[in-house]
Amino acid sequence: MMSIIRLQKARIDTVSLQKSHTRLGVLRLDALHPVISGNKWFKLQYYLSEAVATGKKWIVTYGGAYSNHIVAAAAAARAYGLQSAGIIRGEAPSQLSPTLQEAAGYGMQLHFSTRADYKQQLPPALLSGPVRDYYFIHEGGYGTQGARGASNILAIEGVSGYNQIVAAVGTGTMLAGLAMGAGENQSVTGIPVLKNNHSLQAEINALLQPGQQKKFRLIPDYHFGGYAKYNEELLRFMNKWYHTTGIPSDFVYTGKLFYAVQDLIVNNYFQSSDSILVIHSGGLQGNRSLPKGKLIF
Ligand SMILES: *Cc1c(COP(=O)(O)O)cnc(C)c1O
Repeated sequence: MMSIIRLQKARIDTVSLQKSHTRLGVLRLDALHPVISGNKWFKLQYYLSEAVATGKKWIVTYGGAYSNHIVAAAAAARAYGLQSAGIIRGEAPSQLSPTLQEAAGYGMQLHFSTRADYKQQLPPALLSGPVRDYYFIHEGGYGTQGARGASNILAIEGVSGYNQIVAAVGTGTMLAGLAMGAGENQSVTGIPVLKNNHSLQAEINALLQPGQQKKFRLIPDYHFGGYAKYNEELLRFMNKWYHTTGIPSDFVYTGKLFYAVQDLIVNNYFQSSDSILVIHSGGLQGNRSLPKGKLIF
């Protein structure tokens, strides 16, 4: 399976922040692969094995033109010997985004869907043609199997030495997985990148057993205006963070996450005895949608 997609090992980088004695590590899932961001790879594995086990030839999923999930699903499907179709939000563009070109390069069939159709998640007529018997994966990989896959993130060597786990939150699937995988002494903090998603807590809880639901906490103050929204302050922070730590981030997820972690440390959210592990969930390819020259990495 890994013959097509060659994954590197994840590692933990230790980071020291100015005037802080906090023990801070960054789990570099971005180092797994330049395009298939680490958390997506973890989230997709059980879906794809289920698709194979149930004899499906195709997977179908949804996403936007710069979606980390779309490109990861395309690559992972190929690695599992499955065909893939992506239903892409919006009208077909005159030129494909780099993300979609990459997805198409992994063999994904792209079907564009108007925003209105997309909202209702209507499978376009095409899907009733060649792609009949398919395995469906929700947008962003939301679901129990996705969370189970993400729980394996905490089985990576070295992770058990940290008692505070912090991660960015989109659909909440990864966070649910982290809550599933957390040990007795570990607590999980999530930084949502969407604004006013009031059902998020419930959506995460829906993926968990009752005992696991107490393991996480969401801090909704770092969305910078909402999904994929950014300002100059965020970009300045990302450049500074790269300059001091050597760790690149993306403006949709991990830039907001590192900003939040630094702010939370400054505001004594953590205890001095805590050791904090920040999950770098990848997604760097998404920076290609920014205007050129904004980032120094
Ligand atoms: C998709 C994604 C997330 C969010 O994962 P969810 O399971 O949807 O919450 C976080 N970081 C990166 C880089 C992502 O691509």
